[in-house]
Amino acid sequence: MLKGKTALVTGSTSGIGLGIAKSLAARGANIVLNGFGDSDGPKSVIAALGVQVAFHGADMSKPSEIEEMMRFAAKQFGRVDILVNNAGIQHVAKIEDFPVDKWDAVLAINLSSAFHATRLALPAMKAANWGRIINVSSAHGLVGSAEKSAYVAAKHGLIGLTKVAALETATSGVTCNAICPGWVLTPLVQQQVDAKAAAQNISNEAAKRQLLGEKEPSMQFTTPEELGELAVFFCSPAGNNVRGVAWNMDGGWVAQ
Ligand code: NAD
Repeated sequence: MLKGKTALVTGSTSGIGLGIAKSLAARGANIVLNGFGDSDGPKSVIAALGVQVAFHGADMSKPSEIEEMMRFAAKQFGRVDILVNNAGIQHVAKIEDFPVDKWDAVLAINLSSAFHATRLALPAMKAANWGRIINVSSAHGLVGSAEKSAYVAAKHGLIGLTKVAALETATSGVTCNAICPGWVLTPLVQQQVDAKAAAQNISNEAAKRQLLGEKEPSMQFTTPEELGELAVFFCSPAGNNVRGVAWNMDGGWVAQ
């Protein structure tokens, strides 16, 4: 279905980004990976799916490096057809204690990076009259939680950006939508599980159950594979007129 298309997935050396990259590669898309840490492992996982894969280590908090990454992707594959804005970080603290540099970093990586990648990807998508922009927001893009001011603000902002991008492309073959996961057991959430286990002197399993019990009626983590299949749907012909949605896959979190 996606043979001949190129997908750039930010923050795809791990977790949800890698899961989405795998699902898109399994449908034939060539992949540009991005993120910190080991890139050889993720590259070979994607290459094993029989598509071409490239990696660019742009720091998504730096607009100049995002520009370099977009130039690199165009040089490697001609054009980015599918842009998945997924890179993200978390920091947990009350507003009055929230370190200003952490606020700036969360906003830069979780929100401004999507603006930069989108503004740079749109001209070629519009010229080709086909494109998919998928923003990985969160249940925290739809509702708040205490001690996550920067994250909740960035994820709500990302849904706003999604709607505007969808409107500005509404008469074209380019669509823009957001995915809003609930808890997914990736390194980002494992850190919060570990902090809970340590603070309350409880086991990791008990901390996971507590985390789910606070928010997610299904008592199940959403998986990167499930989120990958939602991204595939947005890229399919059935997704042609799905524009500006914020689609939660969250075990009932925001239904409450
Ligand atoms: P993760 O920590 O496993 O992966 C984050 C990825 O982003 C990694 O590849 C990391 O290297 C990359 N990254 C971090 N800072 C970067 C930077 N400055 N420049 C480039 N890459 C950078 O986390 P995850 O859980 O897979 O999160 C992926 C996205 O999903 C994030 O936007 C996150 O907010 C969102 N999300 C996660 C959950 C969850 O429960 N895990 C829930 C809702 C939304």
